[in-house]
Amino acid sequence: MTTAQPLDVQPTPLALLLLGREADPRSERGVECPGDLPAPSDPDLVARARAAKEKLGDKVFVLGHHYQRDEVIEFADVTGDSFKLARDAAARPDAEYIVFCGVHFMAESADILTGDDQQVVLPDLAAGCSMADMATAEQVAECWDVLTEAGVAEATVPVSYMNSSADIKAFTGKHGGTICTSSNAKRALDWAFGQGEPRHNKVLFLPDQHLGRNTAVRDMGMSLEDCVVYNPHKPGGGLTAEELRAAKMILWRGHCSVHGRFSLDSVNDVRARIPGVNVLVHPECKHEVVAAADYVGSTEYIIKALEAAPAGSKWAIGTELNLVRRLANRFADEGKEIVFLDKTVCFCSTMNRIDLPHLVWALESLAAGKVVNRIQVDPETESFAKLALERMLALP
Ligand code: SF4
Repeated sequence: MTTAQPLDVQPTPLALLLLGREADPRSERGVECPGDLPAPSDPDLVARARAAKEKLGDKVFVLGHHYQRDEVIEFADVTGDSFKLARDAAARPDAEYIVFCGVHFMAESADILTGDDQQVVLPDLAAGCSMADMATAEQVAECWDVLTEAGVAEATVPVSYMNSSADIKAFTGKHGGTICTSSNAKRALDWAFGQGEPRHNKVLFLPDQHLGRNTAVRDMGMSLEDCVVYNPHKPGGGLTAEELRAAKMILWRGHCSVHGRFSLDSVNDVRARIPGVNVLVHPECKHEVVAAADYVGSTEYIIKALEAAPAGSKWAIGTELNLVRRLANRFADEGKEIVFLDKTVCFCSTMNRIDLPHLVWALESLAAGKVVNRIQVDPETESFAKLALERMLALP
């Protein structure tokens, strides 16, 4: 007779909300847009967006994340990854309104890095990030208590990925840590481990376990055994005090639902289908995918690699589909064959919440003098989050 094993599944602490309906202040998602959205079928949407943007002139600066739809990217003054966009916004102090076509944590970072007189607008408040939602302020505070009880908090430096809420960035700043991006994660970890004090011999990496593990093992020569995973849904994170003491990297159990879909099978399949293909993936992918890929890097790295690729080369890209499709079209004339790594479609559903009707609604509201969907981080959170972001900017 076999004994039933308890399932490793915990109920979500938050009630699930329909995207775009109701409000949940503790979550990245779930707020209704006040006012009437234009119908997606309105044939004048492009003309309306153009007219509203023209009316606003230099008062508005529209940022478009790489994973946004083409219809939205068309109206972006600049495109980039989340950190580049926040810096671009900070470099435009004259712009009264920053319209961020991306997700909630990105708009928060833009608010933190821009002046108090600038207002950051997210066209759809339901555009959250499932990864950022996987680490709440309460859970991270509880984790720190667990580390303190195990006697390792003193030795631990928090390093948080840009893809986290302002609360988590503030926690990081308060506890002497830094923010990192997928481009500078190694530099951030080098800094955290080499703070001159031997007692700093551990990192708590939030919230993406894959970026943390891939950077530690692939770029810094640590072993998989040096990493443990802290599960916020289990008592004590599911780890013993001995495991915490022995670990170098304490990885938060979070992941990106888009990049987490790629598997070793996706890599093997594409190699069988397209002989000679170069597999290029984002470091938010699982470790086995990253280990099997030819190249690994951030969205900016992926774009540069494809720009530099010779004509006739073949590429399978493991990142969000809107970007891969745009790159495939852009480089088709140069004879570069670019395909999506997986066979199934894989958009970031929350990024895709921002569409032309929401953008038109936000721009027309601003043009009429009404600020909608403003993202504003409270001053205390902002000051600690800024500290963590400034540490990143000062990384050697
Ligand atoms: S692609 Fe992943 S990390 Fe980026 S916003 Fe979507 S869920 Fe979050």
